[in-house]
Amino acid sequence: MALRTVEEYYKSLSKQHPTVYITGDKVENAHEHPLIKHMVAAIAKTYEMENDPEGSKLLVTDSELIPEKVSRFAKFYKSPDDLLTKVRMLKFLSHNIGGCYSRCTGMDAINSAGIEIYNCDQKHGTQYWPKFINFVKMIQEKDLALFSGVTDVKGDRALRPSQQSDPDMYLHVVDKNNDGIVVRGAKIHQTGSTCANWGLIIPTREMRKEDADYAVCFAVPVDAEGLIHVYGRGTLESRAIDGCDMGNAEFSKFAPILIFKDVFVPWERVFLCGEYEYAGEMVRNFGNYHRHSHGGCKCGVGDVLIGAAATAADYNGLPKTSHIQNKYAEMQKIVQAIYGCSIAASVESTETPSGIYTVDPVLSNTSKLFEGKDLAEVIRMMIEIAGGMTTDLPSDKDFANPEIGPLLTKYLKGIDGVSTADRMRIFRLIEKLAFESRDIVSNIHGAGSPETHRMTILRNTNLEAMKGYAKKIAGIKENK
Ligand SMILES: Cc1cc2nc3c(=O)[nH]c(=O)nc-3n(C[C@H](O)[C@H](O)[C@H](O)COP(=O)(O)OP(=O)(O)OC[C@H]3O[C@@H](n4cnc5c(N)ncnc54)[C@H](O)[C@@H]3O)c2cc1C
Repeated sequence: MALRTVEEYYKSLSKQHPTVYITGDKVENAHEHPLIKHMVAAIAKTYEMENDPEGSKLLVTDSELIPEKVSRFAKFYKSPDDLLTKVRMLKFLSHNIGGCYSRCTGMDAINSAGIEIYNCDQKHGTQYWPKFINFVKMIQEKDLALFSGVTDVKGDRALRPSQQSDPDMYLHVVDKNNDGIVVRGAKIHQTGSTCANWGLIIPTREMRKEDADYAVCFAVPVDAEGLIHVYGRGTLESRAIDGCDMGNAEFSKFAPILIFKDVFVPWERVFLCGEYEYAGEMVRNFGNYHRHSHGGCKCGVGDVLIGAAATAADYNGLPKTSHIQNKYAEMQKIVQAIYGCSIAASVESTETPSGIYTVDPVLSNTSKLFEGKDLAEVIRMMIEIAGGMTTDLPSDKDFANPEIGPLLTKYLKGIDGVSTADRMRIFRLIEKLAFESRDIVSNIHGAGSPETHRMTILRNTNLEAMKGYAKKIAGIKENK
């Protein structure tokens, strides 16, 4: 079977040698670094789940490319059912991890790029699709972890790529020869890039003829020569370095800046190069798929938010308090709206010429808008329910101190029958869920800024038809 074990995943990382900088230092074996290893652990958990009787029901599937069972993270969405199972799988994983596990970005990139690579070959007679299928087969056969590289640094946002004073503000082709292309630029917020094996790089926006050098899609190993990962700072990370006071002791997230310092890519791994008319649809497909993914994973995280709030209330002696119970219903309403829209976007999906199904864009973007605005209200209610101990907790080291530890244990106790240590554990988790900057900002900007969600909804909304319904019911006759 083309499924890796946790050990095989770790072994693959130890064989890679990516160029990684963390807080000013060049770091060897980055996957073992205290700021990186918790995200590696989150991805490792997905491999554990592929080999778990319960998890494999969602994470393992048949392949239409190779005669083996493969990871769903490397699967083309070939039916509405594939899209439904994806959302359910991500919710399931969030219940087990409580945060990001990165691999959904690669899965969504495979599908969004695939649709347009196929269209490009059909129109231009290019030969990208067979090469792309070979790449996806490799990912499936070796069960590799794949990240997506979409977001460029973008310089002056009001200018197109070819209008920038510095031409490197969007990733672009700077050289071509018989063997391949050379690319230069930088991608930001590359979730889990350092913990992956390969990256699939796609354009970040629509392109015009004059931007043709920027219309490029390709795959690279994470340790390609010239590829530099620079770790981005988050909140709460000194705790990971100290190895204590962690809210989610096992798992974490980070999203480096990725600099492409004249990286060579062989033609075999180039899937779009200059066919500018496919860039916009490629990134729009990615946005729609990835907002749909968030509907699964953030719903799962939402369940953890509610569960953490309810556990804190129980430990505070308030298991049946009516105003708190009402808040659980309000929190559920939001979390279920996020999930429900993604489920509906799967049901309403349509087949593209490539055979890959694309989600309903209005429903997937509606899910993401609920996440961007209303998940913050779920977090606020979690804090309201849990109380002020969501912050200001003494360190684990204070609890371990023989002079003050027993006093802290005495004074920070809640109800009888629950240890102070367990009460502190749930507060630490709540603190992490509420204040980890990457999670909070990802709720808003992950998979594109909220304005792109509204634009997509509007672009796919037939306002004239809606006006027609209203006018007809109101008895208004159009002047011809
Ligand atoms: C935690 C996290 C994880 C992420 N993971 C990934 C990942 O794995 N891979 C990946 O490729 N990307 C990833 N992203 C990037 C994410 O997609 C971007 O943050 C998002 O698209 C917004 O881009 P930006 O951050 O450059 O903000 P900007 O594009 O600068 O947007 C800032 C504001 O300006 C507005 N704006 C920008 N340009 C214009 C314009 N021309 N006209 C009008 N208004 C404009 C936007 O609507 C927004 O309100 C991640 C982001 C976060 C925060």
